[in-house]
Amino acid sequence: MKVKLDVLFGLLLSGLYIATAVWVHRQYKPPAVENSGFHLMMGTVVQVTAVADNPAAARRAIQAAFDVLQNVQRTMNDRDPNSELSQINQTAFEQEVQVSPDLFAVLCAARQYSQLTNGAFDSTVGPLVALWRRMETTGIEPTPEEIQEARRRVGYEKVILNPTQQTVRFEAEGMRLDLGGIAKGYAVDAAIGAMKELGIRGGMVDVGGNIRCFGTPPPPAKHWTIGLQNPRAEALSAKIRLDELAVATSGDYRRFVEKGGKRFSHILNPATGESAAELISVTILAPSAMEADALSTAVSVLGREKGLALIESLPEVEAIVIAADKPEELIFTSGAAAYLLK
Ligand code: ADP
Ligand code: MG
Repeated sequence: MKVKLDVLFGLLLSGLYIATAVWVHRQYKPPAVENSGFHLMMGTVVQVTAVADNPAAARRAIQAAFDVLQNVQRTMNDRDPNSELSQINQTAFEQEVQVSPDLFAVLCAARQYSQLTNGAFDSTVGPLVALWRRMETTGIEPTPEEIQEARRRVGYEKVILNPTQQTVRFEAEGMRLDLGGIAKGYAVDAAIGAMKELGIRGGMVDVGGNIRCFGTPPPPAKHWTIGLQNPRAEALSAKIRLDELAVATSGDYRRFVEKGGKRFSHILNPATGESAAELISVTILAPSAMEADALSTAVSVLGREKGLALIESLPEVEAIVIAADKPEELIFTSGAAAYLLK
């Protein structure tokens, strides 16, 4: 027994020695950095960066990330009639529909964010989004009657999820799930997971401003950072240190329709059917990209007071918002300053 212990100890020591040697070697060998460039996907612009021991490993990681993103896009795009989400939208009122594990996880998360935000985040806004899209293409503003009618088909509590069977069912006819406020964040987390699994040194995934990083940034940088633009005052932009944190920006000032001097955002208040107007930009810092994505949409709906109060109540989440009536000012939650770089 004694001999065996000695051998074990020796093995452990040599293991430690090898690990240290590998670590020292990694510290001094400059990493390979590969960037995917910009790709149009999920209705937005996607960019992936990988930091690895060699270019081939970095490229493999980028490919793995894109495979994941492609898969999420195929499953959760409500504009594609063949996506799994569209199949659900077409049949879940008539019968219970079996859901793939990825999509079921997103539907469960969406319901949690609806509960957390008192319904400000609600992925059943599909019927309202349809009215908004009609306005975007034809300029025809929704009438109050149309909004009323659409709202009868909106409501997360009318989506019945069965975790043991992994099925979904709608309680009202004509309901439409729209995962536009959460799927990009979910996709970023999943892509980061795939890159980490390959054991590379670091990486970043950006799906239209839903961003998450991990590990070592491209040298000589010490941190992963992103620039936060103030849409109305270029000089008042901020730089944020991300590292293991995720970020999402909503209320994108580029996505709105203007009519009669009024702006219509693509983020809709499920309670009124109106578009969210109080905040022109909402940036959320959170441990996961999915959380940042959903909460950025929710805070856009909740507005300055209620939105910031919600974020202050969540210990690991911070927000930076810009109000429509004070576009030159960046408003921070109390912990956000810790992530700002001068
Ligand atoms: P973006 O898609 O520009 O990144 P968001 O993450 O805020 O912005 O998502 C907005 C999208 O989410 C809309 O285009 C629509 O598909 C959907 N959506 C709109 N209002 C809501 C809401 N109240 N809750 C959940 N999803 C919403
Ligand atoms: Mg969002």
